[in-house]
Amino acid sequence: MNLAYKKYDLKLKRPFTISRCTRMVSPVMIVELESEGITGYGEAAPSARYAESVETVEEFLRGAEIKECATESELQEMMRELDGRSPGNNAAKAAIDIAMHDWIGKRNRTPLWKMWGLNGAKIPLSSFTIGIDSEEIIGQKILEADDFPVLKIKLGSEDDRRIIDKIRSVTDKPIRVDANEGWKTPEKALEEIKWLETKNVELVEQPLPASSLNEMRWLRERVNIPLVADESLSRHSDLRGIVGAFDGINIKLMKSAGLSEAKRMITSARAQGLKVMIGCMIESSVGISAASQLLPLADYADLDGNILISNDPFSGAKCVAGRISLSDKFGIGAEKRSDDDE
Ligand code: MG
Repeated sequence: MNLAYKKYDLKLKRPFTISRCTRMVSPVMIVELESEGITGYGEAAPSARYAESVETVEEFLRGAEIKECATESELQEMMRELDGRSPGNNAAKAAIDIAMHDWIGKRNRTPLWKMWGLNGAKIPLSSFTIGIDSEEIIGQKILEADDFPVLKIKLGSEDDRRIIDKIRSVTDKPIRVDANEGWKTPEKALEEIKWLETKNVELVEQPLPASSLNEMRWLRERVNIPLVADESLSRHSDLRGIVGAFDGINIKLMKSAGLSEAKRMITSARAQGLKVMIGCMIESSVGISAASQLLPLADYADLDGNILISNDPFSGAKCVAGRISLSDKFGIGAEKRSDDDE
């Protein structure tokens, strides 16, 4: 199996601000696994929040032993070996897992969602993310998101109520709120969520810092909006702490180390009565197309990473009016744009 990888700077269409940072560019690593003339594509979108960068991804890939996997169970076995050899590096591992899934799907001439026997007509609505910004820019972004029936709003700054009031002066669309750990105490989170309960908010993601699981249990007993874990959970082993503290989980391939574990997490979350969101980082159409294969299994989709960038090196999952359609293209269904398009 030939492994190649290349760093790529994804450019944001607009500066993107959440409670902890602002970004204009988001570096990712595009991975290719080739054998028998078939190339599988993968992507690592590393996040400093999880102690990863393109440099750590490169280091991981340089030392990784990639075996050719003819089946998904062989791939799961290899992923277990990679876990055993080095902890963390979940985005780097995701790149391998996605590329190998793509390769297996292409070799079997089947899209992954069909290989898994999923119903491609059963796809939840995806939201469009609006970062923290001035009222003027937020107004412009809402116009840009006209096509999307659901908005995701980043909160967790001093301007939270001003931002929501601004949005509500323009649109009645349901909104999902993501505080990105920004409300530092349970009392503050309670006060904000109680206020949001009157504003047609569908769910609140990660109100408190990731490790505040006891405080989350306290909060959950006092609010009526479903609470969804993002930063509090990366891998399957984190699920145990989530039960009772949240109503749902946001699974991202870059946290779960890829599709193999994401699928296992969905099954276990369902068994525990947790709702499932499939989310993303700022990613190209490689990562987004891979994650979309799981959408028939999800309650919520939040896969707009490739819509927020202006220089996507791939085409793939298409989102129309907030609905991502699964294609009949083999594997993850992502294709390299020709150099002319770049
Ligand atoms: Mg989030």
